[in-house]
Amino acid sequence: MINKILIANRGEIAVRIIRACREMGVYSVAICSDIDKDALHAQLADETICIGPVSSKDSYLKMDRIISAACAAGADAIHPGFGFLSENARFSELCKKCGIIFIGPSGEIIDKMGNKSEARRTMIEAGVPVVPGTKEAVASVEEGLKIAADIGYPVIIKASAGGGGKGMRIVRKEEEFAKLFETAGQEAKNSFGDDTLYIEKYIEGARHIEFQILADNYGKVIHLGERDCSLQRRHQKLIEEAPAHHVPPEIRKAMGEAAVKAAKTVGYQNAGTIEFILDSSNRFYFIEMNTRIQVEHGITELVTGIDLIKEQIKIAEGRPLLLSQEDVVMKGHAIECRINAENPMKDFMPCPGTVTSLHFPGGNGVRIDSALYAGYKIPAAYDSLLVKLMVHDTDREQAIQKMRGVLGELVIEGIDTNLDFLYTLINHEDFKNGNTDTAFVEKLLKDRK
Ligand code: ADP
Repeated sequence: MINKILIANRGEIAVRIIRACREMGVYSVAICSDIDKDALHAQLADETICIGPVSSKDSYLKMDRIISAACAAGADAIHPGFGFLSENARFSELCKKCGIIFIGPSGEIIDKMGNKSEARRTMIEAGVPVVPGTKEAVASVEEGLKIAADIGYPVIIKASAGGGGKGMRIVRKEEEFAKLFETAGQEAKNSFGDDTLYIEKYIEGARHIEFQILADNYGKVIHLGERDCSLQRRHQKLIEEAPAHHVPPEIRKAMGEAAVKAAKTVGYQNAGTIEFILDSSNRFYFIEMNTRIQVEHGITELVTGIDLIKEQIKIAEGRPLLLSQEDVVMKGHAIECRINAENPMKDFMPCPGTVTSLHFPGGNGVRIDSALYAGYKIPAAYDSLLVKLMVHDTDREQAIQKMRGVLGELVIEGIDTNLDFLYTLINHEDFKNGNTDTAFVEKLLKDRK
């Protein structure tokens, strides 16, 4: 049994996990950096340990300090949340070596699926469709140029260690290739300390559809349906919905089966997500697996009624999954908007500052995951995600209508946010009609200039 969990994270996801612990009667231990002593997660946990200065590398990424804090607090397990150390294979292994349960997969699995080009190879071997592209890392511009010519433009250059849309470049013409290959490599090196790149065909007019997976320690794997995360800016998700609209039932079924197969192939354990690209002819391709809980997990919880954080904890405890595939039924429609501290008028520049006043909407089918409170000073050092605003209703039309209402009601004063921009997207005819793909937001922004 897990009695005490240290949460190796901050912000709304740390708060989300603390709440799940409370509901399960499990003690929670928060960690915080100097600047985060007044942060909500540090105040809500049963215990809080300050582990270092503001810089993430000296606090939220500092493995030895986090493990020491867990040992000092007598925590049985560590929940990594998302971001920070959540997909760090070494951290998962280190926890294990120190006798602490890592709430997530083993280091070996993270290694296998966390490296995107290696995950591609594994999926090809498993017979899961992947986007046409390279099997191995691309060593040089010359090699890349040859491969791109073979695949045919447009292509997308990606970082093997990638995440958060970093180290990714779409190349439409041969003459642009060399420069973009170089900038992708540099960005990857700066972000991940690894400039390994690979190349895929860039699929135009595609949608991003991902399947939520749950897998226990005994080989049972199920999926909890899909999420459509096509509304993105710079490959970063802005609005997500569950289920995905306008996907033929036989395609949805095949994608779900492929997702389960992908997870089974690597002996996956705990919660994870298999991401696919769906093209305009309803052909689907694996793009990557996230070996952790996702930002957008809440909308899956709304439509399935299954608490993913609690399931993660139960699986980590070694309990077998009691749910079977037939138990998973998606009811109604859920939408999430990500409200960020950024200014759309200034190229979405992050805008930290102090929240002077705050009003959260509520009502039937409204869920807000946030670590904001009035008077809170948002530090510049971390992620700009402020609020995950979620709604759930009987169908997509009703959910959109509800989202309009709550976006209009929400008030955050003192800082700039993308609230108005989200309102524009939600009210857009193309969004309402489901005529959106992953390039929709960028196109809209270009047309506005
Ligand atoms: P990251 O791990 O950095 O988030 P992903 O591989 O998940 O990167 O891709 C992020 C987004 O980039 C996808 O959601 C999709 O919108 C776009 N994308 C990725 N690969 C392709 C592709 N081959 N064709 C078209 N769009 C793609």
